[in-house]
Amino acid sequence: MVVVLPLNDNAEEETWTFFCPGCGCSHFFRTNRCREEDPLWIWDKDNVLPTVFPSITVFPRDPKRCCHLSITKGIIHYHEDCHHNMRGLEVPMEEE
Ligand SMILES: [Zn+2]
Repeated sequence: MVVVLPLNDNAEEETWTFFCPGCGCSHFFRTNRCREEDPLWIWDKDNVLPTVFPSITVFPRDPKRCCHLSITKGIIHYHEDCHHNMRGLEVPMEEE
């Protein structure tokens, strides 16, 4: 089961998406830099049981939408500052 997919067909962009069951939508991360200010992540290129570092935060300044997670070997660990009710839980990744 592939849980990490390219965001678009431009492989050079190296932007990847995965489904977040806490938010019920997709989030993304980058592994190369198009612009100097873009944040970068390290991904082990395993798209079945991926590990991504560091943690990913969506809407970090908005407590009503914030989603903060770590991905280790295909498991999403939700941090305590998530807005949704999966905060503090560990859940296996799902297909998009
Ligand atoms: Zn989320």
